[in-house]
Amino acid sequence: MNTVRKSAPQLETLVPYDPKYLPARIMNSANENPCDVEEQIKREAMSAVRNVKLNRYPDPLANELRDLIAESNGLDRSQVLLGNGGDELLFNLALAYGGPGRKFLNMPPTFSVYENNAQLTGTEVVNVPRRADYSIDEEAVLARVAEGDIDFIIVTSPNNPTGQLAPEDFVLKLLNATDALVMVDEAYFEFSRTTLRPYLMQHKNLVLLRTFSKAFSLAGVRLGYLLGDECVIREFLKVRQPYSVDAVSQVIGKVIYQNRAKFEPSIIQIISERERMEQELATIPGVTAYPSDSNYILFKVADAGDVWQKLFDRGILIRDFSRSKYLEGSLRVSVGTPEENDEFLAELRKIVAG
Ligand code: PMP
Repeated sequence: MNTVRKSAPQLETLVPYDPKYLPARIMNSANENPCDVEEQIKREAMSAVRNVKLNRYPDPLANELRDLIAESNGLDRSQVLLGNGGDELLFNLALAYGGPGRKFLNMPPTFSVYENNAQLTGTEVVNVPRRADYSIDEEAVLARVAEGDIDFIIVTSPNNPTGQLAPEDFVLKLLNATDALVMVDEAYFEFSRTTLRPYLMQHKNLVLLRTFSKAFSLAGVRLGYLLGDECVIREFLKVRQPYSVDAVSQVIGKVIYQNRAKFEPSIIQIISERERMEQELATIPGVTAYPSDSNYILFKVADAGDVWQKLFDRGILIRDFSRSKYLEGSLRVSVGTPEENDEFLAELRKIVAG
């Protein structure tokens, strides 16, 4: 037959997530660490890869890496779960806690993957938009949660793409106000040096999401993890693909995690470059940047789509949100190396000056 029946009904209006993967000379669009893993650590990782038996299935739960992460967080392995990037764990969240007849409270603008996952799993999205300055509308969230019908919530801290931390006192109020599962997405927490980790023991409904893709320079190897109560992790175990974290990623992850202190200088550099970029952006007429606790900066500029294109024509890729809901006229630049940041700032200054 040269025809095919329709896919699942929830896909009809679903637009595939598009990270706008475009090759460019300067890639400051995906919030990666601009520096690759240093040579010595890379060599160590590659020699660990050499010893991997490629003919064997991996440990389904990546227990060696799981134990390393558990131990350094003062937790038991049953409170940690590895995933194929944070993305897989976000999908698993929607599978485990969403579904038809269930509700996800979202605070847009935020990482759009959350809403896609909800749609895919038939979960109703309850949007409580942020205020004009992109701070969380705390009263509105708490009032909506008080209705008692929300099943899970994601608080992104720092928020992507807007950059700011969620206030800790708000998250604690939220955790006390609901039995909904509250995921705090800490993909960028190393750049804010702030975590809800100390509160895990007191709140069964708190789960943290972390990733190796940002501070640890490992976006090319898909590794993310959850920290949470054993009873929550058990629900994630029910929905996950058994071998989603492959053997190669597991051994690379172990080497990186054991060497994690060595990433500190690059984190310090990213934070100081972020501060410098914020100061510089403030001096460019017509550019309004939002304060950032992360490794990227959102800014508004007139004719943002054109500005994006002109930067791209000069070999500089940043992220265009100019036509995205709640983010009209905005672009997001990831903090790159000092040289990349200099070039971006100089080109942006020229472009807006006409
Ligand atoms: N959460 C947020 C807020 C993100 O921005 C990202 C990556 N863009 C992720 C989670 C997932 O990252 P990864 O799958 O690379 O771990």
